Amino acid sequence: KKIAILGGGESGIGTAILAKKNGYEVFLSDKGKIKDKYKEVLKHIEIEWEDEQHTDSKIFDADVVMKSPGIPDTVAMIVELRKKGIPVVSEIEFASWFSEVPVIGITGSNGKTTVTNLVQYLLKEGGVDSGMGGNVGNSYAKLVAEEIHDWFVLELSSFQLDGIDKFRPHIAILTNITPDHLDRYDYKLENYIESKFRITKNQTEEDYFIYDADDKNITDWLAKHPVRSQELPFSIEKKLENGAYLENENIIVKINNTKFTMPTSELALQGKHNAKNAMAAATVAQLLRIRKQTIRESMANFQGVEHRLEKVLKINNVLYINDSKATNVNATFYALESMESETVWIVGGVDKGNVYDDLLPLVNEKVKAIICLGVDNDKIVNAFGNIVETMVETTSMKDAVQIAYRLADKGDNVLLSPACASFDLFENYEDRGRQFKEAVRNL
Ligand code: ADP
Repeated sequence: KKIAILGGGESGIGTAILAKKNGYEVFLSDKGKIKDKYKEVLKHIEIEWEDEQHTDSKIFDADVVMKSPGIPDTVAMIVELRKKGIPVVSEIEFASWFSEVPVIGITGSNGKTTVTNLVQYLLKEGGVDSGMGGNVGNSYAKLVAEEIHDWFVLELSSFQLDGIDKFRPHIAILTNITPDHLDRYDYKLENYIESKFRITKNQTEEDYFIYDADDKNITDWLAKHPVRSQELPFSIEKKLENGAYLENENIIVKINNTKFTMPTSELALQGKHNAKNAMAAATVAQLLRIRKQTIRESMANFQGVEHRLEKVLKINNVLYINDSKATNVNATFYALESMESETVWIVGGVDKGNVYDDLLPLVNEKVKAIICLGVDNDKIVNAFGNIVETMVETTSMKDAVQIAYRLADKGDNVLLSPACASFDLFENYEDRGRQFKEAVRNL
């Protein structure tokens, strides 16, 4: 069998390794430049590849095509391939053909990486052997090709789910749905919701679906499109018959006759959104029968993930927090909500059609100064200029941090939570977060 792989990034390389191992004749093609580290792998596994071009004859000769999640379905070549009846799948779908290992799949607009890491941590502490990857770290295909585990814990983006056909996670988690990436979904929210729900598409009565029951986008959809799997919702607003909820400041996870309880004050990750993340992860841990004591200890010790409300340093009793991964307004909403003292807020970057209205009450209540860190700060200045007295603009992280240092008083927080993409001043959100941490450490 012949496979053509479009895109030489993490998922393309993973697919190449797995396909080669399973006897496929592999051709990999990338219209852009392939990174040197990936070229090394391609040479090592001895497959044919090209970059900065697409050779149509070779691609159209394939029995199956793997398309990287970055390539939209609408590009001419993909449309043409499908017209000719050549299946075009995602790396997630392809990898699933070669693995019987049960999958815990995690999708949603925000919280995917946090929940994925927390689930993996709970499993590890509970003595359950699992490998983690997908949209974070190693691709699923690479895991299937190279690692042996009892479980896979996979972060899944909507683009990855778009290309699935038979992929079936035994446990699916949908953290939440807020508008994002709508440019890839004809600017229709329902298309994006449908894409997220694909995670349940092949599930059966033996599988589980864990989701946020407070999220109207999710519950409205579910009311019209029931799933076959067993539902285990979580909520911070109401008590549930089966699922996770809050009672007297405790997280309760009730599944059939088992009940797990843990005070929210003991959770290592604070904030309402993290209580939800913890509920989703604890539900998985309980399904897998991990000891309650172990779940509790692990959720109290979990160190969090870099760039997500990451506590960097306390200087003169001012806490510096790196939330560089907050690249949309919703993520920043939860960051501000979890601030327990007055906050100097560093915000800005590339605007993704942001509407700041939802943040106004929180900013009013918690933010004493705003430092706009971006090339174009007009929208931020317009949104908050009237309610926050001190507003400074800069294009340098070092300056931003030094200004914050001067503005913050004892007991305050300095929060980097940009609500925007990072490409105006930084390579990516990791680069932005690292520069923040370095500037803080140099104070
Ligand atoms: P993703 O992988 O989906 O982008 P992350 O776990 O990396 O999610 O978190 C991205 C941002 O969203 C961070 O700023 C984080 O603090 C915030 N966040 C985490 N969990 C949630 C949640 N359940 N709801 C809303 N925002 C969240």
